[in-house]
Amino acid sequence: MAAVKQKKIVKAKKRAAPKKAKVLKKLVRQPSSVVDADGWPSPRNVFFRPERMKYVRKLVKVSGCVFCTAAKAKPSFESLCVFKSQHSQIILNKYPYNNGHLLVLPLNHLGNILDLSPERYDDLHQTLRIAMEAVQRLYAPAGFNVGLNHGASAGAGIPDHIHYHIVPRWGGDLNFFPLIANAKIVVETLETSYNRFLQYFDSLQRGQS
Ligand SMILES: [Zn+2]
Repeated sequence: MAAVKQKKIVKAKKRAAPKKAKVLKKLVRQPSSVVDADGWPSPRNVFFRPERMKYVRKLVKVSGCVFCTAAKAKPSFESLCVFKSQHSQIILNKYPYNNGHLLVLPLNHLGNILDLSPERYDDLHQTLRIAMEAVQRLYAPAGFNVGLNHGASAGAGIPDHIHYHIVPRWGGDLNFFPLIANAKIVVETLETSYNRFLQYFDSLQRGQS
């Protein structure tokens, strides 16, 4: 009796096999905007990485805040701070996407831009303008990416201390490295960038005083 049952299962499997192959073939031929055999839209390759969950849930905690450390000290290459206004500061991104990549942020530690007082909000945006002018003068980019990733879910690396990114852009400056190796080729060293900005802001402040 058991043997008969086993034979039936084998036969059923044989019948199912070509059907499965057919479905797979169909999926390969279909454009990505259609649904899969079960009705899920946009079939595509998904690499499940459950071990990444600890990062999503922030189980890996960082001690201290680099922006607050920079806010408490004078501008220096150690903190990467190149300029301070009354309520804001300009810092070089330690891992720049491009030469001259700056961060503009309030001196006080806060993760929600809506919590800034009107005075501090204005100061932040005046400083953003000063930073863009600096990049324009020193690097003469063809364009800029200026943006704020507001909150961890929006991609902020340090979500508890808001910061604008200013990334100078040139035509054709994108390559495939960031996609495949989490790496980016930046031709200027951080130290050179830092000294260029520092010199610029020094002469700017001397001109103002
Ligand atoms: Zn902070």
